Amino acid sequence: MNKDIATPMRTKEILEEFGFSFKKSLGQNFLIDTNILHRIVDHAEVSEKTGVIEIGPGIGALTEQIAKRAKKVLAFEIDGRLIPILEKTLAPYNNVNVVHQDVLKANLHEKISEYFSDCEEVMVVANLPYYVTTPIIMKLLEENLPLKGIVVMLQKEVADRMAAEPSTKDYGSLSIAVQYYTEAKTVMTVPRTVFIPQPNVDSAVIRLWRRQEPLVSVRDEKFFSQVVKASFAQRRKTILNNLTNNLPNGKQLKDEIVEALAKVGIDPKRRGESLTIEEFASLSDALHEIL
Ligand code: SAM
Repeated sequence: MNKDIATPMRTKEILEEFGFSFKKSLGQNFLIDTNILHRIVDHAEVSEKTGVIEIGPGIGALTEQIAKRAKKVLAFEIDGRLIPILEKTLAPYNNVNVVHQDVLKANLHEKISEYFSDCEEVMVVANLPYYVTTPIIMKLLEENLPLKGIVVMLQKEVADRMAAEPSTKDYGSLSIAVQYYTEAKTVMTVPRTVFIPQPNVDSAVIRLWRRQEPLVSVRDEKFFSQVVKASFAQRRKTILNNLTNNLPNGKQLKDEIVEALAKVGIDPKRRGESLTIEEFASLSDALHEIL
């Protein structure tokens, strides 16, 4: 029986054997606590029916724990120096395929249909590289991939923003973008001590269950996102101020914006952070009609 990869001793042995040095620029903080890894896989509800996409396997600490429970794992690793390490550490698992590629450049639709056709569901489970968390999550959501959900470790501060409710300091355009597609919940906070090297920020695990349909239906998704971003451009300003200052031609169209706000019953003096996603949807449709 193999020893788990995610113990301080085995991790050090592997790093020494291959003379591996961490690249901070690639967000390399490896997990050395098997208990945390089990809990991540539990939260993702991985079973023998599940195909799992992992982003950034590192030396395989999480990959190994997923492989023990999933039907298959497809792991994308950008750092070529880790590929021979993974070949060795994951050799006991014949349900793992490692792809040497930047996940942001991967054609995930193609990979999912090629690799997971015999799986009943597909999940993304990862300890994400922190320098690129938001672009990765937005790619997974906006590409409309056939995912059941995403369970990932990321900076606590970003998890808080993704799962935030209206009228809180963390609520903003990221909360709306994520909650439009998913039900978001922070399921764990994780101390720095379970990584080597230790990151300078606190971490959390977020669970994003993909909705069957987006939370709200809007006439034009791009315009909706533009309205949301404009509304949060300066958090302390009113919604009217932000829309007139930040929508294209907003200043000339002030009367029309006032009219749209009145039509959907939103007080122009409110701040963007107090609007629910449903209110943003009706506001965006009303503005779309007259702008
Ligand atoms: N899964 C391992 C663990 O939990 O110990 C390593 C996690 S570490 C936080 C992030 C990993 O993502 C590193 O192995 C890094 O090389 C890799 N990585 C960074 N940017 C990437 C990208 N754009 N695409 C794929 N992998 C990436």
